[in-house]
Amino acid sequence: MEESDLRSVLGEGHPAFRARQIFSAIYGQNRSDVAQITSLPLAVRNHLAETCESGYPSVQSKYQSIDGTCRYLLSLPKDGRTVETVLMPEESRDTICISTQVGCPVDCKFCLTALMGLERNLTAGEIVAQVLYVAREHKLDASSGQLNLVMMGMGEPLLNLENVLKATRILTSKEGPGISPRRITLSTSGIIPKMEELGRAAVRPRLAISLNASNEEQRRELMPITRKYHLKDLMEACRAYPLRPWERLTFEYVLLGGVNDSDADARRVVGLLGNLKAKVNLIALNPGPGIPFETPAPERVESFQNIVRRVIPCFVRKPRGRDIYAACGQLKRVSNKEAAGLNDLISIDESLYPR
Ligand code: SAH
Ligand code: SF4
Repeated sequence: MEESDLRSVLGEGHPAFRARQIFSAIYGQNRSDVAQITSLPLAVRNHLAETCESGYPSVQSKYQSIDGTCRYLLSLPKDGRTVETVLMPEESRDTICISTQVGCPVDCKFCLTALMGLERNLTAGEIVAQVLYVAREHKLDASSGQLNLVMMGMGEPLLNLENVLKATRILTSKEGPGISPRRITLSTSGIIPKMEELGRAAVRPRLAISLNASNEEQRRELMPITRKYHLKDLMEACRAYPLRPWERLTFEYVLLGGVNDSDADARRVVGLLGNLKAKVNLIALNPGPGIPFETPAPERVESFQNIVRRVIPCFVRKPRGRDIYAACGQLKRVSNKEAAGLNDLISIDESLYPR
């Protein structure tokens, strides 16, 4: 709930500051149990406890990677469904990767979450709660300026835009966690009309686009959503996107060995993005059961990057937590036990991704 929602729940006859006081206790001081906010009159606490749901999701499982990454399988109080939230600590900053839907309706051929289909959208509260939970668990100070959020967990955020924007307003609120919108990034498979809506929002995260292919036909194969939202129109929507002065678009590109990782692909990517204010993040495929693609050879990744970065800043995203199935595209409630038999699939090339 935002302050305005709290005001309407409270109804008449409360001092003007009351809604803000509740908002800042829950989201700013990270107090999950309304009954424990003793600065509130007892009648207000009782009223809130009767009319609203408060509290954190509960942890179903927690997996700790050798690289420090921590993957949580969180069970939602509403109906017991589970989502994944991942913390990736680094020396100078922490990144929390949050989910926006249970499962995902977009059928990308290289992604494990796709195999679940869509179960439901998350509420704004369930999106915010993932951050509050991890922040409390790991004693992270959200307003420190060292916490980044990426909406790159389960789900397609632009198919749940209303709740994603509400969660963003809460997370960035000065009375709440106070995270800068510059430190929040939303990644989309390219839902064009929703990109336009996002661009109009006053408070919004940065935008990342999962490009993943270098031409229309290839993208249709890998991301069937391209049949509805054509690559050509997606690039047009990117050109029209209202960037803030400090902002550039991020393009993610999952490299699939022998499929979209050739030098010719790299040159076509340059052709697509050359005139945009953009950067490119390359992700070598994180493998998974039922995913019919291979991780490219390190030389391929290097060669692809070298071609793109002559024109556009281009980075290789370090895989985090592959050993615990926490890396991009691996979120599908796979337990460590299930994953154990698959470890031979997962080879991390240390020369390519130095720690
Ligand atoms: N649904 C949104 C955000 C979640 S996916 C989107 O698709 O953008 C986050 C990123 O993980 C996307 O860029 C996606 O292309 C990438 N990804 C999906 N499956 C992957 C895999 N198996 N290996 C590496 N990256 C993957
Ligand atoms: Fe959904 Fe993103 Fe996975 Fe595609 S890559 S299926 S949009 S989560």
